[in-house]
Amino acid sequence: MPSQPVYKRVLLKISGEGLCSKGSGLDAPAIAAVVQEILPVVKMGVQLGLVVGGGNLVRGRQLADNPNIHRATADYMGMMATVINALALRDCLEAAGIPARVLSAIPVTSVCEQWNYHRAAYHLDAGRVIILAGGTGSPFFTTDTCAALRASEIGAQVVLKATKVDGIFDSDPMTHPAAKRYEKLTYPKVLADKLGVMDLTAISLCMENNIPIVVFKLSTPGNLVGVIRGQSIGTLVTQ
Ligand code: UDP
Repeated sequence: MPSQPVYKRVLLKISGEGLCSKGSGLDAPAIAAVVQEILPVVKMGVQLGLVVGGGNLVRGRQLADNPNIHRATADYMGMMATVINALALRDCLEAAGIPARVLSAIPVTSVCEQWNYHRAAYHLDAGRVIILAGGTGSPFFTTDTCAALRASEIGAQVVLKATKVDGIFDSDPMTHPAAKRYEKLTYPKVLADKLGVMDLTAISLCMENNIPIVVFKLSTPGNLVGVIRGQSIGTLVTQ
């Protein structure tokens, strides 16, 4: 097993649900567990960008079920939820000795920096984890698409999509115990079969920019660092 990282600059997408244990809200043990997984990656000298979701606080599409709330408003609320998560994560990373900065696509200048490619690259080169909040800054998108977009911008060598399950399966492993995990897949297969792990816009963007995606379970200790060392964990999606 190679102990050196096979990727130097990585974009990790964490869903809001990854920051809580009960499906909603934010809780300290869940965030601490994420920080523990990130720690060895930073110690290896890997440059890490995090895109954080907001589904633990607000999901735009669900909120827009209320006929009085416009879908765009609901989505902006969702994007602001990602800023809340990013701030929590930043403080917990810094408390663990990992320098971190939040850059938001939606300007919230009194609490964090605004997304700016040059600032992002500067922080990465200075050894800081960057937490990219506010999604793409536009409604009707998701933080998965944001992850693909930011990975393309910062020249990440891989998008790591953290999920609750061990990768991409041929059926839902939550409801089908016999579901089989794919070790490797191609972008066209994921798109054609609508293998619902990441939204299709995100997959397409990674395909266009030739950025591999690894879908894996973050809550298994050692998985994140293992993926970055090139171990066969989760599902690898490539051309
Ligand atoms: N969102 C958006 N544009 C973006 C990213 C996110 O409108 O570029 C909104 C959308 O309402 C979404 C919410 O923010 O439901 C939270 O993001 P997401 O659902 O991707 O979070 P996750 O499920 O990964 O926690």
